[in-house]
Amino acid sequence: MLKEQLKDYMEAHRQEMIDDISALVSIQSDRGPAVPGGPFGEGPKKALEKAMEICGGHGFATKNWDGYVGTADLNDGPSCLDILAHLDVVPVSDGWTVTAPFTPKLVGHKLYGRGAADDKGPAVAALYAMRAVKELGIPLKGNCRLILGTDEECGSGDIPHYYDQVPEAPYTFSPDANFPCINIEKGSIKGWYHANYPEMTALPRILSAKGGTKINVVPNKAEAVVEGMDKEALRKIADEVTANTGVKFDLSGEGTITIQVTGQDAHAAMPEKGNNAITGMLTLLTALPLADCEGVQKLRAFQKLYPHGDWSGMAAGIAMEDKESGAMTSTLDIFSMDLTHFEGQTDCRCPICATDENVTEVLKAGAEAAGLVLDESCKLNPPHHVPADSPFIQTLLAAYEKYTGEKGEPLAIGGGTYTHHLKNGVAFGCEFPGGEDVHMHGNDEFVNIDELILSAQIFAEVIVNLCS
Ligand SMILES: [Zn+2]
Repeated sequence: MLKEQLKDYMEAHRQEMIDDISALVSIQSDRGPAVPGGPFGEGPKKALEKAMEICGGHGFATKNWDGYVGTADLNDGPSCLDILAHLDVVPVSDGWTVTAPFTPKLVGHKLYGRGAADDKGPAVAALYAMRAVKELGIPLKGNCRLILGTDEECGSGDIPHYYDQVPEAPYTFSPDANFPCINIEKGSIKGWYHANYPEMTALPRILSAKGGTKINVVPNKAEAVVEGMDKEALRKIADEVTANTGVKFDLSGEGTITIQVTGQDAHAAMPEKGNNAITGMLTLLTALPLADCEGVQKLRAFQKLYPHGDWSGMAAGIAMEDKESGAMTSTLDIFSMDLTHFEGQTDCRCPICATDENVTEVLKAGAEAAGLVLDESCKLNPPHHVPADSPFIQTLLAAYEKYTGEKGEPLAIGGGTYTHHLKNGVAFGCEFPGGEDVHMHGNDEFVNIDELILSAQIFAEVIVNLCS
């Protein structure tokens, strides 16, 4: 029975697998300045060379594609399945407690080190799936190719270099996310609004306002400075806004009052888990008895498009949902304002029914009607969808179910994975539902070796089923 054979094979190769992952984790492969043969820096280059050496050592034909990606082929048959993983990592910060980030350490079933979970461990699990199929002598008609990228964390500049030269395989999966499998990735729009107006001079006025530091995050902090308002009157309005929104306001100063705004941060794909400090701040500012002027009128119009608590895009006219991918989410992640100008960036995660017509054009028209400008660059990054009832997804889910005994339902997510632009590519593994938090991108990142060994069996089953 294949299942028992694969289980025995992986258990017998547990230590070798740990050694190979450790060899890769030991190389600090975050992005750096380009070097000859290493477009993403010395670290990614070294990790790629090491990975090619490991794959070659296990008997696979390898190729280094100018330092962008490396490939290892299971056989010389026609292209059938690509497995896409990556060797670059995110930078580390202080505060690792179990081991230094590039000194891998095994504690029980956990192997600690930067990149152990994202994505060097899963890359090696895929390699061992290929090894098992080859060494167990299972006959295949088509090829399974492992593609190891070196720039997933900084914009995936590695991938076009490869796919400009080689067509996409009939099937591709990337073990860089979650089981059972992610067959839908929402689209996104990240558009900047701008407003210019004559200098606000009459009192009371807003001197400045700002909030949020980066896109993708619902901000928990914002700050505004208001001049010419009575502090008690401001306090009273702020308390009312707090009662309605849960956003808190700390006031300091007299005459010129600084307002510290505190909400709750969250991933922009899950805005319901946060409490947006920017929209809380705009609710307060637009409720103040400010001297009327064009800047204030534009701010009020903008606030009407992004009222606090509206993360469905209702007010902006883009609320929509579908059965497969769920609802639109729309957040305001960044905002800044001075006496003559304000700007804000919206972050929309769009369901598969979204198009430039029914989202981008609607946002543009809404901006225009409010006297604002939505940046020309604002465009839908289209959603990605491989139908759940396709033979490919059914094969992946069946393998997952066979080895875990759990029902496999495909997932829809708001973020984009490595396979977002592949027609028939999905994320598959290696985090299991309900598993421990592996501190991906954080301190004390680890990978659960037991789970990797199980992942490798699932991958081997998929290789056999798709390539024979
Ligand atoms: Zn990753």
